[in-house]
Amino acid sequence: MAGRKIGILALQGAFLEHERSLRRCGAEPIEVRTVKDLEQAAALIIPGGESTTIGKIMQRFGLDEAIVSRTKQGMPLWGTCAGMILMAKEIADSEQPGLRLMDIRVRRNAFGRQVDSFEADLEVEGIGQCRGVFIRAPYVERVWADTRILAYYQEKIVMVQQGNLLATAFHPELTEDPSIHRYFLEMLS
Ligand code: GLN
Repeated sequence: MAGRKIGILALQGAFLEHERSLRRCGAEPIEVRTVKDLEQAAALIIPGGESTTIGKIMQRFGLDEAIVSRTKQGMPLWGTCAGMILMAKEIADSEQPGLRLMDIRVRRNAFGRQVDSFEADLEVEGIGQCRGVFIRAPYVERVWADTRILAYYQEKIVMVQQGNLLATAFHPELTEDPSIHRYFLEMLS
């Protein structure tokens, strides 16, 4: 039986920062590296990092299939940045491994070299103002089916939700603002 622990995929990337944010919300994080770890988690976060690397390791350990199967049973899943890329059904100009879960098309490193990393204030549907930290971020080019757009930055889609699937192009775990982590935790109830 899955408890109320919140899993963070800890193969590569910014997982420690998510742990800190979850603890701040009073939630109990658990690092997920194996299918067995995933069984302990009631929800899962895929952090930012390098999506090709995370995708390959996920595949090697059979975590991709396990995550897809859990989300089909309703487990909340949130991907930040590389995590968003790994959740997308379509990745522009890339054949990399992924979960192919969410009805979105993403483009990697989409804001260009000149603006590698930046911060911006975002207006998030249902949450309000949030600080967006973007690091070699993707954006969403297109959504379909019942995917909802929750935030834009300069007319680019940077946050989306489809049922129990949530994805942000930016990194709320790198700010002091817990509101998007809280929003994700509410998806459990
Ligand atoms: N550019 C990275 C990728 O394509 C994502 C960057 C990040 O997660 N901060 O995987």
